[in-house]
Amino acid sequence: MTQHIRPHSPPLDLAGYEQVGGYRALRKALKDMTPDDVLKQVTDSGLRGRGGAGFPTGRKWSFVPRGADAPHPKYLIVNADEMEPGTFKDRLLLEGNPHQLIEGIVLSAYAIGAGDAYLFLRAEYKTAAWYLMTAIAEAYAHGYLGRNILGAGYSLELHLHQSAGRYICGEETALMNALEGRRANPRAKPPHVTTVGLWGQPTVNNNVETLANIPHIVNNGPEWFKGLSCTKAAGTKLYGVSGKVKRPGLWELPMGTPLREILEEHAGGMRDGLTLRGVLPGGASTDFLVAEHLDVSMDFDSVKAAGSRLGTGTMIVLDDRTCPVAMLQNLEQFFARESCGWCTPCWAGLRWVDEILQDIERGAGELKDLEILESHTRLLAPGHTYCALAPGAMEPLRSALKYFRQDFERHIHEHRCPWS
Ligand code: SF4
Repeated sequence: MTQHIRPHSPPLDLAGYEQVGGYRALRKALKDMTPDDVLKQVTDSGLRGRGGAGFPTGRKWSFVPRGADAPHPKYLIVNADEMEPGTFKDRLLLEGNPHQLIEGIVLSAYAIGAGDAYLFLRAEYKTAAWYLMTAIAEAYAHGYLGRNILGAGYSLELHLHQSAGRYICGEETALMNALEGRRANPRAKPPHVTTVGLWGQPTVNNNVETLANIPHIVNNGPEWFKGLSCTKAAGTKLYGVSGKVKRPGLWELPMGTPLREILEEHAGGMRDGLTLRGVLPGGASTDFLVAEHLDVSMDFDSVKAAGSRLGTGTMIVLDDRTCPVAMLQNLEQFFARESCGWCTPCWAGLRWVDEILQDIERGAGELKDLEILESHTRLLAPGHTYCALAPGAMEPLRSALKYFRQDFERHIHEHRCPWS
């Protein structure tokens, strides 16, 4: 998928993308395949969403009403609001090969019968915005977007929307409110967005990496895609590593590549003199894994069985010279600041968690604070808040209290941070 992306180089332009087979899948689909054929290929491929939740892509598309009686218009939203701390995978696709994404967008919109697609881009991704504008203009000029694409009778308008810059806009219903010009807070579900979404119409929201897979599935077929994985999960995955490893970075690897291989071979292992203590496997809102989990396959089911989530597949590594309490406080402060304020357990609870962690870190914590932190991991569990921000914020906290509890207690007993 990313073989033609060259870090630190300009993106592939239209001619370069066509040279490596770009827009071949779109020609094939519009000439020889019905929207249902495209849907079936994606369903059969086993592709699961790469934005964090891992929902089967074809199944999501199948919820959109079809046929002559289906409501119109329908919309496709491309979620490029990549703001999860530690996550930088979509940026590579946006900046490296925007035409691959555009081709995936047109194919996906064709499959669900959408006539408009909105690309919702993180505010800070200025370079990506510039490259996307250029690529979208090229695609319009060459008949890959707009009215009567490639003369096949299908039309799609692609709108680039730059976010005003809040983390909550990455939540699909908050994103829709933002697009509609409303306050970006999540909406209650049901109804689900596939039937009542943007402006009340059927809408599909897909992540950038998910859509970048679609041209390759249409070109090569579902069995080829399934065979790319090294476990039962299908395809490849962009895995990222940040933290004090020798070679932090991002790699496209078979889905299910073992955690040990990613950390030790691709990221080069820990920097000299440092020992690994833990890993947030899928961005900041996932539970820590520790050294005993190094042989876990990095796919949705295997990471879940180990007690965490694959999330975005971009890992944050904790080493033995970094204070886990300070790391947690930094993350919880981010989540507290980014709470949209719509429900009390989240906006009040996350602030309290942040304050307690600040107290513990500066040596002013008490043992009963640990009970309060633990009670928050239960109070902010899934189902107690409107959206997943608060439960996600509790995942690193809950697992840190499990794996690094002695470090919290040392801060309290010694009235200082042992790492300072
Ligand atoms: Fe807003 Fe937090 Fe409630 Fe989500 S959980 S709706 S971010 S207040």
